[in-house]
Amino acid sequence: MKKHNFFAGPSILPDVVIEETIKALQDYAGTGISLASISHRSKEFDKTMLDAQNLMKELLNVPEGYSVIFLGGGASLQFAMVPFNLMNKKAVYANTGTWATAAIKEAKLFGEVVEIKAENFNSLPTKFDIPSDADYFHFTSNNTIYGTQFKRDFALNIPVIADMSSDILSRKIDVSKYAMIYGGAQKNLAPAGVTFVIIKNDILGKVDRKIPSMLKYQTHIDSGSMYNTPPVIPIFSAYQTMLWIKANGGVEGMEKRAAERANLLYNEIDRNPLFVGTVAKEDRSFMNICFVMAEGHKELEEEFASFTSKKGMVGLKGHRSVGGFRASTYNALPIESVKALVEAMQEFEKMKK
Ligand SMILES: *Cc1c(COP(=O)(O)O)cnc(C)c1O
Repeated sequence: MKKHNFFAGPSILPDVVIEETIKALQDYAGTGISLASISHRSKEFDKTMLDAQNLMKELLNVPEGYSVIFLGGGASLQFAMVPFNLMNKKAVYANTGTWATAAIKEAKLFGEVVEIKAENFNSLPTKFDIPSDADYFHFTSNNTIYGTQFKRDFALNIPVIADMSSDILSRKIDVSKYAMIYGGAQKNLAPAGVTFVIIKNDILGKVDRKIPSMLKYQTHIDSGSMYNTPPVIPIFSAYQTMLWIKANGGVEGMEKRAAERANLLYNEIDRNPLFVGTVAKEDRSFMNICFVMAEGHKELEEEFASFTSKKGMVGLKGHRSVGGFRASTYNALPIESVKALVEAMQEFEKMKK
């Protein structure tokens, strides 16, 4: 049976990315050996690394003066590396969910954190009083667990840093407004194991503390992201995903598809009396769509879960901290999968009449 993959991460990748990765694992770039067993210093991998960095710059229109590096350790390591490298005394963090909270926990090890918060995580803060003496402002562009999303850039007079783990390359952004953008690749880009970092070179070198080489952005910039052995397989796959994005209308194409998918599903959530969305409408994510059974129908949750799983839908269970349902509708998810979910919701409604 055809599967509809709504997992939040690791998550769906284009079929062609899986196919090209399998091929490269068998015979990489015509070398007759596997991507898994070739030196990362080979000229073939050197090219893959450069191609991946350049294509990320091309797709996101990254201006001069920025570096793209691919690191290990996940977005979670960035929660510590960001303040380690960039915080002198004080930073401002938008606390909009589980991942933002985790980032704040690490930042507090290095200095004072000013938190900007809404009443709860089902909506985004609207007031941003940002002290001008802060070293930077950090926010999570898409809150994977709660399903809220800032669909805009911040223009501030302090450096802006964003965790874009779950919406990178899904919508247009103005990179020049950011000092740094980072994320784990396993949501929208690649298999788990690589973290992308887009960083403005001139924000570095402004803190006094000693930083271990591996945790220092400058080390990885200076070595072309090859200071140590990089995660070669997910970097290769990330490059393939970016080629697929380019062939499918670039970031603009992804943005259009994301809006189509999300609108289709939100419209059904709003129309169908059995379901209700959990997020303030103006803050709804186009990547992670959260909903629950409506008041009076709570007892149907398990039944709907097994109804959809019988139809080949996987990964619809809400995060364990939120409950209900979450459909992750990342770049690679075909609109057919969203249509199938909408049809299942309608069929379920008829069954319950
Ligand atoms: C998944 C996720 C993380 C954590 O990523 P890891 O690579 O597992 O450390 C951080 N931030 C956001 C927004 C995420 O969605």
